[in-house]
Amino acid sequence: MIITLDPEAPPEAVNTILEVVARHPKVTPRKHTYKGATETVTEIHLLAPPEIIQTIPEKLFADLPGVRSVVRVSTRYRLIGRHGNHETPGFEYNGVRFNERQVHIFAGLCAVDTRENVGKMMSALQGHGITTTRMGAYKPRTSPYDFQGLGRDCLPWTFELAGKYGIKIIAMEATHARHIEEIRSALEASGNATGVMLQVGTRNAQNFELLKQLGQQQTFPVLFKRGMGITLEESLNACEYIASEGNPKIIFCLRGVKTHLGDPHRNLVDFAHVPVVRRQTRLPVCVDPSHSVGRLDRAPDQLFDILHVIGQGFISGASMALVDFHPEPRTALCDGAQALRLEHLPLLLEYAHRVRKAYESVCELAAEK
Ligand code: PEP
Ligand code: MN
Repeated sequence: MIITLDPEAPPEAVNTILEVVARHPKVTPRKHTYKGATETVTEIHLLAPPEIIQTIPEKLFADLPGVRSVVRVSTRYRLIGRHGNHETPGFEYNGVRFNERQVHIFAGLCAVDTRENVGKMMSALQGHGITTTRMGAYKPRTSPYDFQGLGRDCLPWTFELAGKYGIKIIAMEATHARHIEEIRSALEASGNATGVMLQVGTRNAQNFELLKQLGQQQTFPVLFKRGMGITLEESLNACEYIASEGNPKIIFCLRGVKTHLGDPHRNLVDFAHVPVVRRQTRLPVCVDPSHSVGRLDRAPDQLFDILHVIGQGFISGASMALVDFHPEPRTALCDGAQALRLEHLPLLLEYAHRVRKAYESVCELAAEK
């Protein structure tokens, strides 16, 4: 059962609820606070076996001062679940707000290679007022003989350049718990020149020990990429692992699923799941058109397939995109075939902006009916 307080609830409201809970010794209350853009929402979650919770009437709490709603949680996504239709709070990190409305494009290198390329990418982003990027240092590769990423060695200069070009957040995959600490100490050494959003790669979507470690730290938000060979429900449960360990700052990223039925695309695009994730959870949704399409083909309308699928994600309500770029894709050490070039950046940004506007206008249409 989840008891949500009014943002203006009096300070004693929580204690009053806890006093009522204390009359039920088998029920454990857990308080969660979510800081939204305009309000901070407090929730008290009551944990107990279903047969005990069933015996507790909602009314016991619904009539207490400062209580906005009491929801009996039937879904398994206790923490990431939407539980009704409230505006979801999202979260803020390093001065940037992430929620279901705010649009962010994480455009950058699939894998950090040279200082020059990282600098060129970040400088181009700065030129367009973008403060979010993607930069892989630890790369999970299919073959052990492929480039594995520069690892911790590239962190100092990558963070330094991010500071120089005003980049506030770098989406960066961690494939092992020790990478979290390597990133943390390199960031500290850089004087916190930037921030990092820790990516869970599709191959690690069910690496439960890694998920727990990401949940046990609260410094870094997590960009979770859905597992390419598991159900959506299994991927959402993986996010619940992160949240249940204590870190609710999660973005859910769709990136396609593995099957040859998606040929010639690298993966079968799964962006029809955007509204499903939004309905079932409070997580802001991102789409990754690069790893789903995997190639730089253009349709007869001259738009890249990559843009078309960003459009599919955004018109369905996704508010973020993770996109591979490279100043010179032919020389990229990882995924060059799907990398857009820097000259495509204005087109991508304008395209994403216009589709998002179209989405907002169709939402108005639905609201009128
Ligand atoms: C990536 O974004 O760099 C990546 C490896 O993606 P995925 O885990 O979705 O394959
Ligand atoms: Mn890649």
